[in-house]
Amino acid sequence: MVDIFSSLTELLAPSSCTFCAARTDGTELCASCRDALPWNTVACPRCALPQAHDGLCAHCAQHPPPFAAAWAPFRLAPPVRQQIHALKYQATFRHAQLLGRLFVDRLRTREAPVPDVVIPVPLHPTRLWRRGYNQSVELARALRRDGLRVEPRWAQRLRRTADQIGTDAVARRRQVAKAFAVDPRVAGLRVALLDDVMTTGATLAELARTCRRAGAAEVEAWAIARAP
Ligand SMILES: [Zn+2]
Ligand SMILES: [Zn+2]
Repeated sequence: MVDIFSSLTELLAPSSCTFCAARTDGTELCASCRDALPWNTVACPRCALPQAHDGLCAHCAQHPPPFAAAWAPFRLAPPVRQQIHALKYQATFRHAQLLGRLFVDRLRTREAPVPDVVIPVPLHPTRLWRRGYNQSVELARALRRDGLRVEPRWAQRLRRTADQIGTDAVARRRQVAKAFAVDPRVAGLRVALLDDVMTTGATLAELARTCRRAGAAEVEAWAIARAP
């Protein structure tokens, strides 16, 4: 159903801006609203942390994460923060389409080679059943439409983790230890993991470790937005 809806909206090519209703040349955002988005322009290449200088952040210089690179085109700030929240808790799928397309646009400007496979971070089956969808899988649809190989079934969440809001980094890391299983087909491949938001990176780090143990050649961590 979501796919039918998105192909319909593509067919009807919007001619006004999603945010300010100004007329556009068929795109969803006018140039000034697009420029005003919280782009994560200067960030640590290993953890995507927004910062004022190029190169590794102080934390990655001391403790490099288990993924080779991290990339998030946005900072977690308005209006992206509200869009992700609405996608996650109110099933606002049009936000997934817009954010996914902006993600893909920005991805095309990267110099790094595209990965062999993109794996959205899985939800535990209980949470998936309650919510009815996985927001990371919804965001990955735009990547698949752009020709990337997306394999949502290649990772499974074995353990339920408590809602991570308000838990500190050490507690988060303990919660996610051995939380995942991955398909052995990751062996030898360059993998990108996709999450909606990267906060401490503990979830992405644990899934990256699981992929490396399964023989993945390289693992990148991708998120739509990076929390500061
Ligand atoms: Zn606008
Ligand atoms: Zn870093």
